[in-house]
Amino acid sequence: MIEIETQVESAGEHLEHLNNKYANRNLNKGRGKQCSNCHLRLDHNMRNCTIDKCLTSEQCGDPSKHPDERSLMDSATEDLKRLEKELRNKTNEYDTRLKGLNSARSSFAQKIRGALINSKKDKYLVKTGSGMFVPKSGLVNQDIAKLEKHFHGKVPDNVSEMSKTFQSIIQNFDKQDISARKFLQ
Ligand SMILES: [Zn+2]
Ligand SMILES: [Zn+2]
Repeated sequence: MIEIETQVESAGEHLEHLNNKYANRNLNKGRGKQCSNCHLRLDHNMRNCTIDKCLTSEQCGDPSKHPDERSLMDSATEDLKRLEKELRNKTNEYDTRLKGLNSARSSFAQKIRGALINSKKDKYLVKTGSGMFVPKSGLVNQDIAKLEKHFHGKVPDNVSEMSKTFQSIIQNFDKQDISARKFLQ
């Protein structure tokens, strides 16, 4: 990503450099008739031209009179366009992948949440003063994250059947977590 951005930048600088070198507007300004010998617009023609024959658009600022220099500029323009297109594609790809990642994550939580709470209501639900049961969101989210790791982000086929194993998966996860922490100490 950074590599292609750098390439676009240097291709742009290269083109700008060629533009300044071969297409200098200051040299080619004015509305006078252009001479086909010196390529300047000084309202004379090649028969009464007293200036040396123009050999490069560095002198006349008109690359259309110098095919080699014109084609250098054309290919630099094409390079830049190609790289810009590549950058756009890479950016789109990146955005799509990120969106996919986010939606996979949120849909895992959505699909698993109900089954998880039902698998051990007394653990996840708390009774409010008015007698309503509400889920303990922090605990539910923590356990969803453990299950997501265990299932590698993929929702198991039969969630309600699988939910019988959720608590032992979470317990195992906690045990591993504790032994890992002990190991690190
Ligand atoms: Zn001339
Ligand atoms: Zn010229």
